[in-house]
Amino acid sequence: MKIIAIGRNYAEHAHELNNPVPTIPVIFLKPDTALLKDNKPFYHPEFSEDVHHELEIVLKINKEGKHISEKFAAGYYEEIGLGVDFTARDIQSRHKEKGLPWELAKAFDSSAPVSNFVPKAQFANLYDLNFHLDINGQRKQTGNTSNLLFSFEYIIAFVSQYFTLKKGDLIFTGTPVGVGKVNIGDHLEGFLEGEKLIDFYIK
Ligand code: ZN
Repeated sequence: MKIIAIGRNYAEHAHELNNPVPTIPVIFLKPDTALLKDNKPFYHPEFSEDVHHELEIVLKINKEGKHISEKFAAGYYEEIGLGVDFTARDIQSRHKEKGLPWELAKAFDSSAPVSNFVPKAQFANLYDLNFHLDINGQRKQTGNTSNLLFSFEYIIAFVSQYFTLKKGDLIFTGTPVGVGKVNIGDHLEGFLEGEKLIDFYIK
């Protein structure tokens, strides 16, 4: 399986990192070795002094497809969950300055914790979903999918022009404002429409 992620999909988050709001999606990949499941602890890597949390809604692809039209894209995911797109911001900043790729900052081992997935059918409106991240009981990130720049269907249509989507692939759909550093000992709790799906520690 592969993990596809979209950067800068909430305007306020683009602004907080002094990035322009994109007119086409910013896409990057993480390998399967980035996956961290079952709320297992995240071991802070030694190569970064500034690993950031980015809480995101994650789509689970349920069948193979390529060149999927936006009109039919909703049929390619039945379940959604939460994920944390861990980002070594210090490494990313150095690479961005030089126009270099982001893999070392984004694709390292365990950089993609994901929750259990829940049927999207349980939500009345996928474009009015509230989600938030608490760290040590303090609210750090709050998002609502009404603020997405690119819809889930648009993202699926866009990326499937380039990559064949396969059953089990995951799409991280971008983080809202409020990203910041995690520290060893932190307790991360992520909620989707009030249901706690993310619950793990930084070790
Ligand atoms: Zn992200």
